[in-house]
Amino acid sequence: MNRTPFYEQVRDRLLRYARVDTQSARTSDTVPTTKKQFDLAYMLRDELNEIGAADVWLDEEKCVLYASIPATVSGAMAFGLVTHMDTAPDAPGANCQPWVLMDYDGGDILLNGEKGIVMSPKEFPNLKNYIGQDLILTDGTTLLGGDDKAAIAAVMTMAEHLLKHPEIPHGRIALGFTPDEEVGGLARDLDLERFGAKVAYTLDGDYLGYYEDETFNASHATLTLRGRSVHTGTAKGIMINAGDMAAEFVSLLPPLDKPQFTEGREGFFHLVSIQAAVEQAQVDIIIRDHDPIIFARREQLLRDLAARLGEKYGADRVSLTITPTYRNMKEVVDRYPFLIEHLTEAIRLAGLTPQSIAFRGGTDGSALSHRGLPCPNLSAGYENAHGRFEYVPIPSMEKNVEILLHLARLFAE
Ligand SMILES: [Zn+2]
Repeated sequence: MNRTPFYEQVRDRLLRYARVDTQSARTSDTVPTTKKQFDLAYMLRDELNEIGAADVWLDEEKCVLYASIPATVSGAMAFGLVTHMDTAPDAPGANCQPWVLMDYDGGDILLNGEKGIVMSPKEFPNLKNYIGQDLILTDGTTLLGGDDKAAIAAVMTMAEHLLKHPEIPHGRIALGFTPDEEVGGLARDLDLERFGAKVAYTLDGDYLGYYEDETFNASHATLTLRGRSVHTGTAKGIMINAGDMAAEFVSLLPPLDKPQFTEGREGFFHLVSIQAAVEQAQVDIIIRDHDPIIFARREQLLRDLAARLGEKYGADRVSLTITPTYRNMKEVVDRYPFLIEHLTEAIRLAGLTPQSIAFRGGTDGSALSHRGLPCPNLSAGYENAHGRFEYVPIPSMEKNVEILLHLARLFAE
């Protein structure tokens, strides 16, 4: 595999960033959800200052880091790049020991001799796509955090290259590094005015060369039911069992509109939890659909079912609240067709075939798009994210540096 001039830079950066534990937490009401995310923010801030980036500023309260690469030509449109500093709470994140496997031969990889942890292409067939490449791996006991540090490594390397080569024409490039993406942070505290670009891309996700301009619409429904408890021996005609009401409600949901039966652009209701006793029950359901009209119908169906229970048992015994989580970015991104045109052209110029999927989830870009910063997503190129078998092929990061440099040039044309 031929190395690009960026090989050592992206490799050393990911090795350095991966060692910093930046795991976010689901059960935390602080901002950011864990203080240790600042450890990487400080490291990146120093590095941005060292390479000569402009507007370097860390929000010491919210843990959002800003910087920019100043324009080298006038009149070129500014664009932004947003990556996240936290890693997922789904696998251990502390004491990550990343290492490099040179020239992968397509066989089993011994991650940890002492503990006998092996990663095999039999279980992870995508490994076969990277034969002959150098891979960054874990010791099998923690996640790697290539999600999203492989993207940060690519962005920093692109930034360093452009800052060293002011003869390359480009407009202002705004950089934003955010906390808590993995726990639904949705880049909430990214100050768009300070960020200073009218359009942007997130860099996140697996599969090199993929991009996303379409996500789910998402909301969370909480149904609260109030029953009436009396002794079971004398309950006839008096008891109202909130648990039974909860079961009745759930039984009325469309039986096949569930995550385990849907794919592609099919939406669903997902029963997250039922907590039920006679006096009180709570049902939590998340609603997902790409199509805004079908999504609205799904929300309406829950309201109708709740009303039906209310008619049967008393309206004061049933309450339903539906809270929006995020919305499909597509309706916003579609108004700026050059965003995807430039992105797919940049992917092609890097020698890859651009591919997109209707993402069955949400991204920080879903929320940013609806806040007025249209923001599709470019894959970061990591594999097996959120687990102990996560790995990043070094050439995938090199490719992303190339894509970003092409993108910078296309925005200047
Ligand atoms: Zn991510």
